[in-house]
Parts: sequence; structure tokens; C-alpha cells
Amino acid sequence: MPVLVAAAAVIAWIVLAPALAARRLRRAGEHGLSEADRMYLRQRLPAYAAMPDCLRTQLERLTATFMADKVFDGCGGLQVTHLMRLAISAQACLLELGRGALPFPDLRSVLLYPAGFVVNEPREDDLGVVTEGPEELSGQAWDTSRILLSWEDVNARSEATAYNVVIHEFAHYLHAETGGPGESLLEAELAGLRAAIDHGEDTFLDPYGAEDLIEFFAVASEAFFEAPAAMADSHPRLYASLRDFYRVDPAAWPGMAAAS
Ligand SMILES: [Zn+2]
Repeated sequence: MPVLVAAAAVIAWIVLAPALAARRLRRAGEHGLSEADRMYLRQRLPAYAAMPDCLRTQLERLTATFMADKVFDGCGGLQVTHLMRLAISAQACLLELGRGALPFPDLRSVLLYPAGFVVNEPREDDLGVVTEGPEELSGQAWDTSRILLSWEDVNARSEATAYNVVIHEFAHYLHAETGGPGESLLEAELAGLRAAIDHGEDTFLDPYGAEDLIEFFAVASEAFFEAPAAMADSHPRLYASLRDFYRVDPAAWPGMAAAS
């Protein structure tokens, strides 16, 4: 009899645990963000302040869900604060704003370092040349369960240079998970960036995107959310492709600075 009771308890746990977890996340999402959290995002994240009210409510719901769902681990002696979690969660959830109800469902944890961190793993370039030895990174989409970030680089986000390491790494994550938007257009745009760099031109997109298709998509995603009007102006087809992929149109948001 005790065996049957124990077995029943295990089965009940297996059935109930996911339902309880789902309810906890739904409640966190419904609860949304505090007034202090909203104030912080208004000051720190231009896209949050610029978007229409209905999308802002949706972003708050996703952000609260993300914060309740993911583990934030401080590495290298870093103490992770509430505002660090908030800043990273809100920027990550920009990428899921038009896409789904549960943000990055398979991601378990964000590992946060105080500054750039060193990894030691072989890397392969486009030509198949493998480089060994240590490399300092600002972020890394490690696998389906973890993303690594440097807080110093998260803080260095800038709409002027369209630099955003959170968007960059989470774009890598989504790209690996979904395959990203159609490759033929991305390849043509990547070839255009490489040609412009070869001619010594100043490029709108970060030249780092010329590395390969994967980096190109991540760099283009940074520009899409940080400088959408300028991107729609200078790379209209690439902008349209990312608009279809992310299912939002930030260049049209009321508070977004128009392209000059
Ligand atoms: Zn990258």
C-alpha cells in the first residue's frame, strides 16, 4: 500500500508540476511590472518609450514572465541586481514582442559576467580555418539552455551606433532555433556589406556583420531595434525582411526618431 501511495504521489507530481509552473508564469505576466520598473525602462530603453501603448503592455507582460522563468547567475563575483535582470529581460523580450506568448521557452539561464569574459574553444571561419586559444567575448548564445553576457557591454548599448549585445545574442539564439528569415535576401545584403567594406566605404551596419550570415543577422537585428527608421531608409528590403520575421514595425512606432 505505501508503494501505491508513493507511486500515486509521483504521478500526481509529474502531472501537476508543469501545470503549476505554467500558472506561476501566467500570474507573473498578468502582474506585469512595477511603476519603478516602468520608469527605469522609459529612461534606459528608447524602444520601450517609443512603442504604442498596446505593445508596451505586451512587452511588460513578456518581461515579467521572462524574469519569473529564467535563472540569472552572477559569474566572476558579480552580484546580479533586480535592475540588471529587468534591463536584460526587457531587451531580450523585444525580439519576442510580435512572436509568441512565452518568451524563449527552452532557455533556462542567463550567465552574467561583470565585463568581457574569456573562452577557450576552437573557432572556425568561413574558409574552414580553425583558430585555437583564448578569446574575449561580450556575449555568447551557448546552447538552447544558456546565454552568456557581459554587464559592461549590456550597459554600453547605444542607438547612435546600433550596438546592443542583448539583442545580438538573443538574435543568435532565435536564429539557431527558427532558422531565421529567408537566406537568399540575407546573402545578397551580406555581399553588399562586404563589397562596401572592400571599397573602403562607411557602412550603416557594423562591419562585424560581414563575418558570416549568422553574425550578419545578429548585427542587422541590433540595427532593426536600435535604429529602425535609419535602417528602413538605407536598407529597405532587409528592414522589410526583419519586420516580417519579428512581426513588429519599430520604424513606425510613434516615438521612434525619424531617419534624417
Ligand atoms: Zn555574434
